[in-house]
Amino acid sequence: MRHPVFAANWKMNHGPTEARAFMAAFTARWTPRADRTIIFFPPAVSLGAVVHAIGARRDLDTGVQNVWTEDRGAFTGETSAPMAKDAGARFALVGHSERRHVFGETDEQTAKKCAAAARSGLVPILCVGELLSEREAGATNAVVVRQLQAGLSSVSADVVSAMAIAYEPVWAIGTGKTATPEDASAVHAEIRRALTAAFGAAAAAVPILYGGSVNSGNAKALLAAEGIDGLLVGGASLDVDGWARICET
Ligand code: PEP
Repeated sequence: MRHPVFAANWKMNHGPTEARAFMAAFTARWTPRADRTIIFFPPAVSLGAVVHAIGARRDLDTGVQNVWTEDRGAFTGETSAPMAKDAGARFALVGHSERRHVFGETDEQTAKKCAAAARSGLVPILCVGELLSEREAGATNAVVVRQLQAGLSSVSADVVSAMAIAYEPVWAIGTGKTATPEDASAVHAEIRRALTAAFGAAAAAVPILYGGSVNSGNAKALLAAEGIDGLLVGGASLDVDGWARICET
């Protein structure tokens, strides 16, 4: 992955018709640049529309917001990693805070999902982040390192070396509150330390993204902060112009 990484998490927004319109406008506006990675995470039903719009362009990429732990079977409503790969995904978000805190996903499940994604040839992007109550209790680093170690417990150093990590404080997601660049940097440094302790040299190339109410007004200061290698953006990635401005940072 070329740094900086700009990842758009559309969450449950932009069905196929809107996704097609978005991508037509974005691909017309965005001039390819070789110095960054741009990844779209549409809802699974819109993946085909995004894959089609990207076509042969090598400057844009796409993935799914979630995968199930098993490859196939009686798991109504789920999408498996090999199916996502077959549909054109290259990346998979794993352990997004809404998966953890809205849908009750456990550390153990994030480990299985990272492994399932990697097994199918998808690149997992593992999301970690603390609740406000955990930050106030001084437990930020402990929570983030626990989620990191658990999520990566079933993948090899080789897999880790191609992955990305996203630090997304739960209290900053969709709330308009952003971690200060200094606070984000401090957690990124802790993540880097834990990655290096567990995986040695393989950890060096792993980009660590920040996410949580990023917009075109705060993206520059966040990206300039030590240890922030990219941005994972929800709400502000839904608008073509706003997203393009963020990707220009
Ligand atoms: C996200 O969904 O990963 C996210 C960071 O959302 P938002 O930018 O809306 O806070």
